[in-house]
Parts: sequence; C-alpha cells; structure tokens
Amino acid sequence: MAKIAMYWGAGCGGCDVSLLGIHEALLDLLDVLEIVFWPCATDFKYEDLEKMKDKSIDVAFYNGAIRTEENEHIAKLLRKKAKLLVAYGSCASKGCVIGLANLSTKEDIFDAAYLHNESTKNPDGIVPQEKAGDLELPAILPYLKTLDQVVEVDAVIPGCPPPTPVLVEALNALLEGKTTFGKEVALCDECPRKDTKPDKIEITKFYRWHEKEDNGDCFLAQNMICMGPATRAGCGGECIAANIPCTGCMGTVSRVKDQGASMMSAIASLMEEEMDEEKERELIASIHDMVGTFYKYSAARLLPKGRLKDES
Ligand code: SF4
Ligand code: SF4
Ligand code: SF4
Repeated sequence: MAKIAMYWGAGCGGCDVSLLGIHEALLDLLDVLEIVFWPCATDFKYEDLEKMKDKSIDVAFYNGAIRTEENEHIAKLLRKKAKLLVAYGSCASKGCVIGLANLSTKEDIFDAAYLHNESTKNPDGIVPQEKAGDLELPAILPYLKTLDQVVEVDAVIPGCPPPTPVLVEALNALLEGKTTFGKEVALCDECPRKDTKPDKIEITKFYRWHEKEDNGDCFLAQNMICMGPATRAGCGGECIAANIPCTGCMGTVSRVKDQGASMMSAIASLMEEEMDEEKERELIASIHDMVGTFYKYSAARLLPKGRLKDES
C-alpha cells in the first residue's frame, strides 16, 4: 500500500474536491493507497504529521498556494516527511487566481477587503491580527508564494482544479514512481473547434465571451481571446465543450516559461501585418484586464525575483 497525504493551503478547496471527483477511479485507487494525512477529509491533526518518520509518506500532495506562516510550515514539514512532494493544481504550482493578489501589497488588500468597500462597515478599523485574546493565529505573509518558491517540488499536476483525465493519469504515474506525465502539446491540438482556427484574423476589437453570440467556430476566429494556443492539452477542452473560451488553467507545455507572452505572441502572429498605430491602440484597449487575461493563473510569478526573499 502506498501512503499518501493531501494538504489544503491557500486555495478555494476545489482541488480537494477534485480528488473525490474522479468517482469510481477513486475506488480502484483506494485498494492500493493508504491515506495517512488529509485534514479536509478525515480527522488528522498537525501533530500526527509531526510524529511521522521522515520520508515515511510515499506521495504528498500540496494544493493551494502559500500565503500564511502555517502554509509555509506545513509545506516544509511535508517535504521532510514525504518521498515525493507534488504541487497539486494551479495555486500550488503557479499561484493561480489568488496569485493576482501579488499585484498589490498586503496592506492594500486588507484595506480593500476589510476597510474601504461598498459592503463593509468597520468603524474600528479591525483587520486580521496574529493574536486574538488567548488565540495565536498564523501570520499572513507579505506576498503569496508558490510551493516551489518554498521547497523542492518533485512533480506538478496542473489545472484549476486538475481535470479528471489529467488527475487519473498523474496518480497512476506517481504510484509507479514516475514524476513526468501529461501531454506536451497545446490545447488547440485536441479542440473540437480546431478546424476553424484561422491562419490570420482581421481584428479591430476583442470581445469578451458574453458580449457576442457564439457561432461554434474557433473563438479566435470570432475575435474572442481563447488561451488554447498557449495552454497545455489534457483537459479535453472542458470549457470549450461548454462554449466558453479557455482561460489557460492547465498552464503551458514544459518548454514554454511565460504563458502570457506565449499567448500575446500567438495573437501577434495571427494579425494582419499592416495596422496603423491608432487601430493598434484601440485593439489593445479592447482587452479587458491584460494581466487577468494573459496571466490569470501565473501572475504570482510576475513578481521580481528577490522581492519575496526581501519582504517575507
Ligand atoms: S487550483 Fe483552482 S481549484 Fe485548486 S485550490 Fe486553486 S483556485 Fe481552487
Ligand atoms: S484557440 Fe481555442 S477555440 Fe480555437 S482551436 Fe484553440 S482551443 Fe479551440
Ligand atoms: S479549457 Fe482551458 S481553462 Fe478550461 S479546463 Fe481546459 S485548460 Fe482549463
């Protein structure tokens, strides 16, 4: 029996649920797995983990990012106790949507969340504290970190959350001791709309997907941004099947380091060569939220190296 652990760091909980979402495949896995730590699903305490012998867990999955001292402590502890440590999902590996918080300081985030917004009355200006009466609470770090910015990571299971086919393949590979798995091609390769993907597009404006009626063609042909060209295949095009452009949750193939730059370059190669400056400006202005579009899952990585080191 392989001993496995699962921890939920700073994230939405969807990754924990995704493990249950593999349905019957989980029953097969339970025949060969022993869950030794999974606080979200069963009653394990941190002291249970602390008492385990070093390297006694075969595979530890860490989902969510690292935003508190508690997250950081457990990441280090799991690294010590596990033979293989896996970044499970986009938050752990790239920072994901919550990594967009790295575009602001912790103080700005507290201000927007607890002090100055339309739905909060907080006349005493109370923000999260590290001490509340007798209680000591884990400190919130100045910036969010990905798992590999804190400890060495052996493997990554991509996705927000990892789609079932990706997860089943990854779990089986990891149980065989393999740390590389998944497809090394772009999502467009497995997209049912790929036959209508254009070589060139005449664009004057980009539309958001709710602003235009979908005609069933490639979203780029319809002047809607779809991150398929810069996104790793494997999910089977779950969003496309629901008539929604891909936002890129699977990250990139391993040879591409910057998903946003890769997508901007894909768009540039699709555009007609001649475009005057004013039209170019209008086109760029029609992209709502540049960072949130091109770096929705990897913005945490935009923070200059060293800043994390200096400020945490
Ligand atoms: S990767 Fe997505 S599903 Fe998983 S914890 Fe982060 S936000 Fe939630
Ligand atoms: S850009 Fe999007 S819709 Fe077009 S082929 Fe690629 S994944 Fe499919
Ligand atoms: S289509 Fe894109 S955003 Fe949707 S699950 Fe697949 S990779 Fe993620």
